[in-house]
Amino acid sequence: MIGRNATASTRRIASVDLLDWPLMGRFLRWRHARAALQVPLLLLAALMVWDGLTGPQLAPKNLATTLTWLHYRGFVVLALLAFGNLFCMACPFMWPRLPLERLVRARWVWPARLRSKWLGILLLAAFLFAYELFDLWASPWWTAWVIVGYFAAALVVNLFFQGAPFCKYICPIGQFNFVGSLVSPFEVAVRDYGTCTACVSKACFRGQESQRGCELWLFQEKKFGNMDCTFCLDCIHACPHDNVGLRLRLPGSELWENRLRSGVGRLWRRPDVAALVVLFAFGALLNAFGMVSPVYALEAWLARLLGVTTEWPVLGLIFFAALVVEPALLMGGAGWLSRRLSGHTEPLLPLLVRYAYALVPFGMGVWAAHYLFHFLSGFWGAVPVVQNLVWDMMGVPLLGRPNWGLGPLVPLAWLDMLEVGFIGLGTWGSWLVAYRLASQDAPTRPWRAFLPWAALVGLLALTALWLMSQPMEMRGTFLG
Ligand code: SF4
Ligand code: SF4
Repeated sequence: MIGRNATASTRRIASVDLLDWPLMGRFLRWRHARAALQVPLLLLAALMVWDGLTGPQLAPKNLATTLTWLHYRGFVVLALLAFGNLFCMACPFMWPRLPLERLVRARWVWPARLRSKWLGILLLAAFLFAYELFDLWASPWWTAWVIVGYFAAALVVNLFFQGAPFCKYICPIGQFNFVGSLVSPFEVAVRDYGTCTACVSKACFRGQESQRGCELWLFQEKKFGNMDCTFCLDCIHACPHDNVGLRLRLPGSELWENRLRSGVGRLWRRPDVAALVVLFAFGALLNAFGMVSPVYALEAWLARLLGVTTEWPVLGLIFFAALVVEPALLMGGAGWLSRRLSGHTEPLLPLLVRYAYALVPFGMGVWAAHYLFHFLSGFWGAVPVVQNLVWDMMGVPLLGRPNWGLGPLVPLAWLDMLEVGFIGLGTWGSWLVAYRLASQDAPTRPWRAFLPWAALVGLLALTALWLMSQPMEMRGTFLG
């Protein structure tokens, strides 16, 4: 059932609020809930760095590579699909700042020119590029340095600059999570708007003596959707009226709404956010393409054509084609046709920005299919890695001798069905969003505006299914 207050925020499904749940609600209301999630992950990250730098340099035998590239990414997509931005909530990179904040006062203001997603887009694309170029999944040493670099960057930026610019504008993982959480079922949202209207303190935003307000500049009364929300719980703790909850909503329903959002503005006027979504969707295909055998044939052919023997120019060309040329041609073509068929007269760019958001469910479906494939096929691989690590540290096999044959959580034959299921679900979601957008554009003939976008999403879905049907490298496992 769609809740009655559907117009107040994203579409509610009944009135489920995680803060009302007996144990979960109690935990989330606890002032140290976030730290309770962050500190164990911080210790785990320290152990991963230590093993990455000093442990065995074979990826399936090392904690840094196994947990980062198999487990972490699997948990990220599961959390986004079942809950919301759990990994920003539990982000260990943010915790080291807390003790230092008493000594260092954030004085600098993040430059106005950099207050957009463009830098984050560049870094996310660079991260995907580096992942392929340096085979990060295969190198515990490099993986450990990526983790260390991440801690250093998050600490320095968020310590010296006001707000949390690292999270909002820089962090590639955060940008990925922000887009993925647009189709999450839960949202940090106000419970009763009347209470906000009467509220004098606005502490969810401004903070109060012992509790900071929203560092991402999201004012609850005007907040809408999950973009830029790290689920940090600060507003929940700061609100003196217990008026912020973690509320269930119709996943993806914010994608066809153009409401003014606090700290974000209107999505349809944010080409940078739309470009981030395009990177999210086309990057999902490219990331999967990097693991199937046709990519090697293509690379060899391009290297011969360009007359080069190093990988980066070839890989750079593939990335440019897949993340710039292909989206521009496909989306430009779909937009042009949609406009022509529906008789719309608006310029092409705003139309493309609007429909770009329809790609979020599809992108999420492909990321989920891909990451869960690796997660489920290498799930038990963490057990012998931990046994081996403890053996190395203690000098005796305290947890038993490692059985390196452990691996899949489910029979490998099931993984094909799972991949098809996620891609199908994402495709269906994207069609739904595109149809809702088309209905707003051309109320009398939505099908005409919708069909080119439906064809584009269908084409991308066929590409994704073809990619998943190819033998995929079992990166990070002994099967790889
Ligand atoms: S502090 Fe609470 S009641 Fe006041 S505006 Fe924020 S969410 Fe609303
Ligand atoms: S709205 Fe702001 S304070 Fe509240 S959870 Fe999201 S990021 Fe944190």
